[in-house]
Amino acid sequence: MSEERLLPVPTQLSQPFWDACRRRELVAQRCAECARFRHYPTPRCPSCQSDRYDWAPLAGRGEVYSYTVCHQAFHPYFADAVPYVLATVELEEGIRMLAFLPDLDPAAIRIGMPLEVCFEQVDESLTLPCWQLCDEPEAGEG
Ligand SMILES: [Zn+2]
Repeated sequence: MSEERLLPVPTQLSQPFWDACRRRELVAQRCAECARFRHYPTPRCPSCQSDRYDWAPLAGRGEVYSYTVCHQAFHPYFADAVPYVLATVELEEGIRMLAFLPDLDPAAIRIGMPLEVCFEQVDESLTLPCWQLCDEPEAGEG
């Protein structure tokens, strides 16, 4: 991976999400009217249109909702990583996030596979949420 990496640029709206990642916490907007979580950050609730929300902590656990195995690098930075897995994670709170899973064997990926959040500190100002296989599934489920 020799090319320059593309990194997210926090906005005023998303800054609290990135601030939490720096503290190694995963958060999402939660509507103050209907209590639904949402991600990515939006100014209004897609369910009830309220503009009132807070940033609520998430458990940091979910499962593979969908995935694709990338055999073509869509940016030169990822040329050495192919084939790699991109997955949509459905979190316990019902929202979905994108997961780059470069360490997972593409032949092993399955819908419903349990994932947990981890964090990668890029530099002083940016830490990225990442996902990895859970060591053990939540007790009492399944
Ligand atoms: Zn709402």
